[in-house]
Amino acid sequence: MNHEVLEEEAVLRPATRSALAELTSVPGVQAPPRRAALRADKTVRVAIVHDWLVTYAGAEKVLEQIVACFPDADLFSLVDFLDDRSFLRGKRVTTSFIQKLPLARTKYRTYLPLMPLAIEQLDVSAYDVVISSSHAVAKGILTGPDQVHISYVHSPIRYAWDLQHQYLRQSKLTNGPKSAMARLILHYIRNWDIRTSNSVDGFVANSEFIARRIKKVYQRDAQVIFPPVDVEAFSLCTDKEDFYLTASRMVPYKKIDLIVEAFARMPERKLVVIGDGPDMQKIRAKAGPNVEIMGYQPFKVLKDRMSRAKAFVFAAEEDFGISVVEAQACGTPVIAYGKGGALETVRDVSESRPTGLFFDEQNAESIIAALERFDEHVKRFSPADCRHNAEQFSAAHFRERFFSHVRAAVPALRTATLPPYVPYKAEAAAGAPRILAVDQSGVLGGAELSLLEIVKALRSRIEVVLFDDGPFRTALAKAGASVEVLEAGALRHVRKQGGSLPKGQALKGLVSLVRATAKRARKADVIYANTQRAMVIGAFAGKLARRPVVWHLRDIVSPEHFGGKQLAIIKWCARFGLAHVIANSAASARAFTELTQFDEKRVDVVFNGISAAPFDALRTVPQATLRQRLNLPQDAFLVGSFSRLARWKGQHVLLEAMVLNPQMHAVLVGAPLFGEDQYEIELHAFVAAHNLGERVHFLGFQHDIAACMCAVDAVVHTSITPEPFGRVIVEGMLAQRPVVAARAGGVLEIVDDYENGVLCTPGDAHGLADTLAELRSNDELRNRLVRNGYQTALSRFGTTTYVDGVARILKGVAGR
Ligand code: UDP
Repeated sequence: MNHEVLEEEAVLRPATRSALAELTSVPGVQAPPRRAALRADKTVRVAIVHDWLVTYAGAEKVLEQIVACFPDADLFSLVDFLDDRSFLRGKRVTTSFIQKLPLARTKYRTYLPLMPLAIEQLDVSAYDVVISSSHAVAKGILTGPDQVHISYVHSPIRYAWDLQHQYLRQSKLTNGPKSAMARLILHYIRNWDIRTSNSVDGFVANSEFIARRIKKVYQRDAQVIFPPVDVEAFSLCTDKEDFYLTASRMVPYKKIDLIVEAFARMPERKLVVIGDGPDMQKIRAKAGPNVEIMGYQPFKVLKDRMSRAKAFVFAAEEDFGISVVEAQACGTPVIAYGKGGALETVRDVSESRPTGLFFDEQNAESIIAALERFDEHVKRFSPADCRHNAEQFSAAHFRERFFSHVRAAVPALRTATLPPYVPYKAEAAAGAPRILAVDQSGVLGGAELSLLEIVKALRSRIEVVLFDDGPFRTALAKAGASVEVLEAGALRHVRKQGGSLPKGQALKGLVSLVRATAKRARKADVIYANTQRAMVIGAFAGKLARRPVVWHLRDIVSPEHFGGKQLAIIKWCARFGLAHVIANSAASARAFTELTQFDEKRVDVVFNGISAAPFDALRTVPQATLRQRLNLPQDAFLVGSFSRLARWKGQHVLLEAMVLNPQMHAVLVGAPLFGEDQYEIELHAFVAAHNLGERVHFLGFQHDIAACMCAVDAVVHTSITPEPFGRVIVEGMLAQRPVVAARAGGVLEIVDDYENGVLCTPGDAHGLADTLAELRSNDELRNRLVRNGYQTALSRFGTTTYVDGVARILKGVAGR
């Protein structure tokens, strides 16, 4: 405690003194500022400062609830590149000079050395209370003696403190002049970080662990307020069944293998395991017949199993452990490793109204003993107690605790009450239209992956309807989108190339599909059709619901790709039902306007945007590790194709080139997504007939394309008819692999021959074989292509430009 400040307090009025005395008892809060104490009659102005606003993840979920506590607060951040600001209740944010620096949108982290300076330039002097939400520099905001500064610390800036060495290793900055520079900068940031901790009046930590870190680096106490958990998404279930559940990402520290090992030794008990990850193989190998490994499951399934399980088993040491709270929210008791956050979130069997029990060691014996104890006491665990306990960690509870904490630290807020929580409706935000996205497919083709990116960014105001069920629905649900499948399979038999017009049953199916789509469209401002059949249904639904329809055109509508009847339907729909068209390349746009004579002013080209993150995350993973994981040969020159198996994608051209280049191997990633199973059979037959079995590796459909691409030496794209865009080309560039692509269609807008990739004649296996041989032997060429390709992908095909472009057009059309 600061004695000088205590002496100053003595001159204040008695009433204020007692408020100040109260204040000193608030954990983590230091001396009280005077002006805030004397302004009790005036409106208290609150500023909220967050490090950077580029996504909606854990720290932003906390920020969302802080904003809900102080809905009139003004917001400040180093940068703000949010597409969807509904979690900030649509508020605008004052940003720092970093916002305007080159490439800040994608490379804001590289401005780390400037961040302390930048945060100090944000002027919050007009506010009585400053709340920083900090995992980097937000807590360094400048405040004066008359202001109260409360800092919610997600973590002290990680890479400057105990994770510095790990960070330098990962960034390949262990020695040399760049390393010295990085170390100097981090040294200066550490000094700055400690100095600025002095002007924080009260620290709040998101866990005991972070409170300990705060103590270690700033020598200050912190009040722990756990981050909010969405317990409302779960409901109490009192009917339990005779199985146990564990669910998490399968990474080593989660210790799922130990749980599975314990159950393998207790064959009379049944375990269900949900989740996926690098440890999957290891875990599967340990499972006995009483263990059901379900892999990754959508939220609905997870929730269902959590509700019905007899108990949830958790063996990780976590700062917090959200799933432990979620299980209790379903009324399910928890058997957990007794360390870390679980100790705060589970009431042990030694207490009254227990909600679970702990085991002391991370080994199978300890888990077995805990399960036996659980059985002995099973009657003492009541689902209602579990639910009740979980509710303490709800968003509502977070708001109450956080608000009370701030109120106790700010005498002027003493009589203030927490404002009622009003869910923020994105549609109320000025001008932001509600969108109904329509896609015909349930599988993950390029069009669907591109739509997924849009949905992630505009999640709060976009609803998706699909005409078929499958992994695309799962991926959308996982991204938090609202998604519905209408009449699964109604359109499945109307083939793209088949040209058969709907008759009888099919016609009935189409009519009901149009009606169902129109019904949903009435709640939206604009229909956003992502595929050709979705556009046809959308055009009719748009007429019925009186909503404009935008078609995101991801095809080249020419006789090479479509049958005559399909083209006629497209022509007719364009005239009859489309307000606007977004084309994924100039090539797609050109073919469309030639076919339909559509007004060119109503056609915009927006290139797809592909996130660099999954590729950048693999930079430090050795290629050998990736090859081993995928069971690929270590020493071979590997050429990869990453398209769905379809004749027009031309995988056979690559196989022919392999016959000509006997020293190379080919990896074919992809599956026949749209019914071209015969083509797959032909590819296998070709491999057998030419004895390529040793050198050609079929991997089927893969979700982790980044890992597959980083495992190969060159990426090829072999389409024999013009490609509308070619996501795989940009992905190859992001993977920093030389790309060879077929010279036609949208590809020409991505690849600059021999600069950022190499172009080949479509269908020419000899040309492809020669190019690959040249690439293999020419290091200088490979390096140039990789360097320029990566720059191209970042500068022209980023997700922000893509999402902004689409969002702007949809808004414009909805507002017409
Ligand atoms: N892809 C995938 N798994 C696979 C094969 C392909 O996720 O096994 C992805 C690939 O990474 C790319 C997309 O599917 O993002 C294909 O898009 P592209 O534009 O190349 O072709 P489209 O399928 O749209 O014709």
